Amino acid sequence: MHGALDDTICAIATPPGEGGIGVIRVSGIHALDVAAQVILPRSGKLLHELVSHKMTVADVCAPALTAGTVRGVQLPARFVIDEALVVVMKGPHSYTGEDVVEVQCHGGPVVLDQLCRGLLAAGARLAEPGEFTRRAFLNGRLDLAQAEAVLDTIRAKTTRSLTIAQSQRRGELSRQVELIRSDLVTALAHIEAALDFGDEDITFVGKAELCGLLEAAGFKLQRLVESGNEGRILREGAVVAILGRPNVGKSSLLNALLHSDRAIVTPIPGTTRDVLEELVSIEGIPVRLVDTAGIRQTDDPVEAEGIRRSRLAWQDADLVLILLDGSEALSDDDLSLLSSCEAAQVILVLNKCDLPRQLSRAQLEALCPGHGGMIDISATMRLGLDELRGTIRTRLMTGGLESREGVLVTNLRHIDACSRALLGVTQAQQSVADDRAGELIAVDLRIAADALGEITGVITTDDILERIFSEFCIGK
Ligand code: GDP
Ligand code: ZN
Repeated sequence: MHGALDDTICAIATPPGEGGIGVIRVSGIHALDVAAQVILPRSGKLLHELVSHKMTVADVCAPALTAGTVRGVQLPARFVIDEALVVVMKGPHSYTGEDVVEVQCHGGPVVLDQLCRGLLAAGARLAEPGEFTRRAFLNGRLDLAQAEAVLDTIRAKTTRSLTIAQSQRRGELSRQVELIRSDLVTALAHIEAALDFGDEDITFVGKAELCGLLEAAGFKLQRLVESGNEGRILREGAVVAILGRPNVGKSSLLNALLHSDRAIVTPIPGTTRDVLEELVSIEGIPVRLVDTAGIRQTDDPVEAEGIRRSRLAWQDADLVLILLDGSEALSDDDLSLLSSCEAAQVILVLNKCDLPRQLSRAQLEALCPGHGGMIDISATMRLGLDELRGTIRTRLMTGGLESREGVLVTNLRHIDACSRALLGVTQAQQSVADDRAGELIAVDLRIAADALGEITGVITTDDILERIFSEFCIGK
C-alpha cells in the first residue's frame, strides 16, 4: 500500500481554495531531479546547485515533455506557469529526512494544480495523507508520539491545547516514557541474565533493588494514566451539555458563552428542536457546548427525536449544565430532570437572575443535596458568566493535573498503552512479592515495556501507523 521510500512524493500543503500563497512540497531521494524539470531558478543555476535551506526566486514551468500544444495552441518550449520562491532542503536535515523541495507560488487552484501535474509528469507521485510525517518517522526524524503531536498542533483548538501539543512535539512525553521503559528493560535484562545462569529465583538482581525499581516505575505510570482524563479533554475538547426545559434560556446561554448569535432564540417553548453544538474556549479548555432540545414528554414526533438525541448528548457529556428559570417555580419537567442526573456530572445554573426570584437556593439545596455549586446567571444580561466559566473549568480539571508541572498524556492511544504498562508493572510487583518464578516476572515486564514502546514507536505495526497517519491531511 505504501510505496517504497525511493519514491518521490509531492503534495499541495496549503488548504484548498484561493490563498495569497500556495505551498507545494516534494520529498524523496530523487526530489531534486524531479523538481528540476519544472522549477528553473532565475539565477540560471540548476536546482542541484542551490545552497540548502536558502530561498531563491524561480520560474515554475510546465514540464518540457508536456509543453507541446494546449487546445491547439502551440506553447513555447518552456511555458511559465508562475514565478515562485523555492527552497531546497537537503536530507537528512529536512522535515522528512530526505531531500525536500518546497515551492511557494501564488495560491490559486490552477497554479497549484498545474505545478502538481508538472511534478507528476516529471516522475513524482501524489503523497498520501500524512506521508511526509510518516517518512519523517520512518527516517528517524521524529518518534511516533512526536509525529502525533504534529497533528495535535494543527488541530489545537485553544492555546492550552497547543502548548501541550508542542511539549509533546519537542519530545517531553517521549523522554518520560523512554526513561520508564529503559528502567523496565534493565530490570528485564537482569532477570533474564539470572534465568540464563539457571537461577530459578531472582536473587541475582536483588529483590530490594527490583522492588524499588518497579515501585518507581509504577508511580510514574500511575501519574501519567491519571493525567489522561484532563489531557484528553485538553486535546479533544470536553463535551458540556446544556439541559433544561423549553424556554429556560439554553440558546441564550449558548449565545452568551459564544459571544455570538448563532443559536435561534425565540420566546416559543420547544423551538430548539435539534442538538446544536459549538466549540468554545473556556479558560483555555476546548469545550464543545451542546444545546439540547428540552427533556420533556411530548407527542410531537419531531420534538421527540430532538429529545432522544439530547438524551444521547447528555450521556456522552463530560459535564451537564442543568438550567433552571429562577423567575418561575419549578415545574414537573424541572423536577424530573433534577432527579435523573448524576450530581457528580452536573452544575446547577439558575438563569434569569435579572428578574424577580421565584426559586430560592435553599429550596433547591433541599431538593438536590449533593449538588456542590449553584450558580446564578442572566444569559441575556450576561451576568454570572465568569463564575460559570470558572466552575466549568474546575469541574473538568478535577485533578488539577494540567496546572502542575510534568507532562500530560492527551492521546487515547497513549493513555491505553500507559494503562497496559501500569497493569504489567503491578502484576510484576505482585509476583515479586509472592516470590514467584523469574519467568513470570519477565513476562509481565516485557508486556509493560512493549506497551510503552508503542507510544514512541520503538514497537509498532503497520496497523498502528496506518491508523495514525491516515488522520493527517495531505501535504503534512
Ligand atoms: P431555550 O428554549 O431554553 O433555548 O430558551 P431561549 O434561550 O430561547 O430563551 C427563551 C426566552 O427567555 C427568550 O425570550 C429569552 O430572551 C429569554 N431569556 C433567556 N435568558 C434570559 C435572562 O437571563 N433574563 C431574561 N429576562 N430573559 C431571558
Ligand atoms: Zn433554545
